[in-house]
Order: sequence, then structure tokens, then C-alpha cells
Amino acid sequence: MTLLRKSDRPLLIAHPRPDGDAIGSTLALRLALVAVGKHPLVACVDPLPANLAYLPGADSFLQEVPEDVDIDLVVAIDMSDLKRTGGIYRESWRERYPLLVIDHHETNAAFGDVNLILPHAAATAMPMTDVIVGLGVAAQDEIATCLLVGLLTDTRGLRTETTTPEVLRAVGELIESGGDYHGVMQRTLDFVPYRTMRAWGVALDRLRLEDSMAWTTLSRSLKEELQIDDHYDLDLGNLLSRVAEAQVTAAFIEMRDGTIKVSMRSRPGYNVATVADALGGGGHKAAAGCTVDGPLETAVNRVLNLLREVVREPVDPVTSVP
Ligand code: 5GP
Ligand code: MN
Repeated sequence: MTLLRKSDRPLLIAHPRPDGDAIGSTLALRLALVAVGKHPLVACVDPLPANLAYLPGADSFLQEVPEDVDIDLVVAIDMSDLKRTGGIYRESWRERYPLLVIDHHETNAAFGDVNLILPHAAATAMPMTDVIVGLGVAAQDEIATCLLVGLLTDTRGLRTETTTPEVLRAVGELIESGGDYHGVMQRTLDFVPYRTMRAWGVALDRLRLEDSMAWTTLSRSLKEELQIDDHYDLDLGNLLSRVAEAQVTAAFIEMRDGTIKVSMRSRPGYNVATVADALGGGGHKAAAGCTVDGPLETAVNRVLNLLREVVREPVDPVTSVP
């Protein structure tokens, strides 16, 4: 908090293929900093998806930041390592500016000079609320709406195991403080572009189920046909997580550079974060991801072999509560 209080021009960075928590938490902090007279910059290498573009400040995101930008602090938000800035963070900044990390990933190695990491929190929006209140700003109105976006997306509409009474209380308080709960439901959660919905159709048509694992793939050529860009997070991981017969699920999406983005989910008692971690990615027990080398078929075999182990050895359900 001292770092933020001392700073006048902090750079807030959200991760690539940004989700509701990365954008909502970043924009909530931006609004709070503006409210106390500071001049924050916000950055994300990828454009915002349509379901987040309506948020206050969404149009202020920079996709590129020059190395000699006039800043005095870097804040990495909702990411468990520096690779996740997508290249926005420059190594030369290391000696020049302090690095503050605000996150909720269990795989976060506390890579900042100061780290505000709540590893069991449902969303980065939880520690972010504390940060904002700590700055002396009320988490109300537009700020509350941005924080609600983080909480409602990362809990998939309050249905994940991370949805504790504390989270439900936080949501209630944000609504009482003027947060637009129904607006977020309509404009973020129930807002799937037609192209995405059609891509889901193609991906679901290719859905496989074997040994309590459900998975699907989307190749480069199919994505081209469907006009799906790399920076579109199709949210396929969350869609597949609902397959009744599956304990773990994986969506494999081929990128234009030939790498494969893997999005994994598991039911309570199973941990996919270890698999993501082993493959250079990260995440949570129930939701984790990574990017691995292609071709698609090799990536599928490699990841399914690891997931088979996960299914074979459930973790203690008591300690698995994220
Ligand atoms: P998703 O499958 O929705 O892309 O991501 C699920 C979770 O894993 C999120 O918490 C996300 O931040 C994390 N995650 C996804 N991909 C990566 C990755 O490549 N590296 C790291 N460190 N975390 C990832
Ligand atoms: Mn995120």
C-alpha cells in the first residue's frame, strides 16, 4: 500500500487474453487511483473481449508501452509470473521501478518487491478490494461494478468451490454500494459473441470423453474458418468443465505460431494446477492453463498422459478446497 501511496504514475498491467478478473481488478484500481489524484496507466497486450469493453476506463488500455515511459511503479495484476505480462514488462525496469504484485494464484512465486497475494481467494478482486479501501477510497458505484466483474467471472457466476460465504458477503456489499450486478450478468457473463458461440459448436462437435477426462481441440485452420483470432479467449475451458462424466477437462487451442494454449478444469478433489505448473503455466487446483509446443496431437497426448495421473490420484478433498 505504501508503494501505491508514494507513486504518482503507476503502470497497471493485466495478463494477455484478459479475463474479467484481470480487467475488472485493474480498472477498479485505476478508478481508485484517479480518485485520489494519481495518474495511472493501464496496459494489456491483447484487446479487451466484447464482454468487458463497456467497463469504465476500458478504452484507456495501452497495448504497447515504450521502454522509456514516464512511470514510477509497476503493478502486475492477476498473474502468477512476469511472463504473463506478455512482454509489456521490461527487464530494465527492474532496477528503476518497484514491482507490486496483486494476485490470487496458488502458483504465484511472489515475484514482486511487494506481494499482495491471497492464494485461496476466489478472485484477485478480493485482495484488490482491500487495496482500494486501504487507499481510503470507497468500493462503490463504478469501482464496485468492476470488482463484481472479477468476482462473478472467476467464480463462473458464484458456482465454484471458491465461492465462500465471505465472497457472497463481498458481492452483497458491492451491490449495496452501487455495483451493477444484473448489468454484469447481462453484459459480461451472458454475452457470448455469435462467432464465439459458433466456435463452441465446432469445438463441442469434436468433444471426446475417456477415463473421466473430456477434451476437445480447435486447430488453426478451424479458427481461421470461424474467424477466431488468437487473442480471443473462447472460454472453452469453463464450458467443458460442466461435462457430467468428467473429473478433469481440457481445451486445446492452436495458436498462429503453432503453440497450443491448454485450458484445464477439474472437479473438487482433483488438482490440475500441478500439471499446468509442470508445463510452465500456472493457475489453481480447479482451473489452470499453460501454453505448450505443437503439433496439436503431440500436445494432446502429452497433457492427457499427465491428466490421467491426476484422475488416478485424487487429492484429499478436505485439503483440496481452494
Ligand atoms: P484459462 O484456462 O481460463 O485460460 O486459465 C485458468 C487459470 O489458469 C487462470 O487463473 C489463469 O490465470 C491461469 N493460466 C492460464 N494460462 C496460464 C499460463 O500460461 N501461465 C500461468 N502462469 N497461468 C495461466
Ligand atoms: Mn485472470
